[in-house]
Amino acid sequence: MTARIIDGNALSAEVRGQLAERAAALKAKGITPCLAVILVGEDPASAVYVRNKVAACEKAGMRSLRDVYSPDVDPAVVFKRIAELNADPSVHGILVQLPLPRHFDSEAVLEAISPEKDVDGFHAENVGALMQGNPRFIPCTPYGVMKMLESANVPLKGAEVVIVGRSNIVGKPMAMLLLAQSCTVTICHSQSKDLAFHTRRADILVAAVGRAKMITGDMIKPGATVIDVGINRTPEGKLCGDVDFETAKEVAGAITPVPGGVGPMTITMLLANTLEAAERTQMRKAK
Ligand code: NDP
Repeated sequence: MTARIIDGNALSAEVRGQLAERAAALKAKGITPCLAVILVGEDPASAVYVRNKVAACEKAGMRSLRDVYSPDVDPAVVFKRIAELNADPSVHGILVQLPLPRHFDSEAVLEAISPEKDVDGFHAENVGALMQGNPRFIPCTPYGVMKMLESANVPLKGAEVVIVGRSNIVGKPMAMLLLAQSCTVTICHSQSKDLAFHTRRADILVAAVGRAKMITGDMIKPGATVIDVGINRTPEGKLCGDVDFETAKEVAGAITPVPGGVGPMTITMLLANTLEAAERTQMRKAK
């Protein structure tokens, strides 16, 4: 059996088309959705992510601002800029690219962003809202995964889900979203015993670890849906996921590739959150 591919590029193109239409409708009412991105330091991967986010905004008819700071910048400068962006009514979304240099208190930076503009959904207030089942902004990567599951018509109610990875950015919010859809969710991490025992039980397996090809075909239940969030490089410099695609696709029922899977959907859902924030501004104005 060869698994059905859940194509993140194709779904992204479709969703971005819908977002561009909504952005145009909002523009006609005098509001251009605007995302402000802050990058600190010279991490090459972060620079690429920021470039892609800014380009995607512009392609969808949204405005973007980009502030780039040297790695040794005084955190006070960044806090001041966040305060300015919070106060600027023409800015609807604010994103600080992670990771930040060591001399930054990342949590304090995320908390400084107004919850109404926190399009990454990392502010404690937004995390709490997600926990309570009433999200304001859903973190972009798990949001993208939910869209992929929906588009692939993967049954969720009662499904056994195993998520490998418990980060605040991916694993934990992913678990909350799937729990809200009545999945039975197990979260594994670096201290989990017998990882394969868990993964082999999964109807839906989400890998979000950051270790190239660690999930192999023999760890997958036949027919399972496999979502590969990981982004890694092989020794030859090629992009690959946390799942060993070649062996996994022979066992899984459906699988996301890397590249071309979850990655493009993450940026798409960032656009969706920014647009949503701008639409809320318009609704408040109209009241
Ligand atoms: P983190 O490093 O924050 O978290 C990794 C998680 O994996 C941790 O919970 C860790 O456990 C767990 N882990 C580490 N080793 C093992 C192991 N041997 N067995 C089981 N679990 C293990 O990573 P992120 O969540 O930020 O990212 C995960 C991956 O997803 C990365 O490759 C990242 O690049 C990618 N990513 C992709 C995105 C996309 O758009 N496609 C967006 C965001 C991330 P513990 O908590 O015990 O340390």
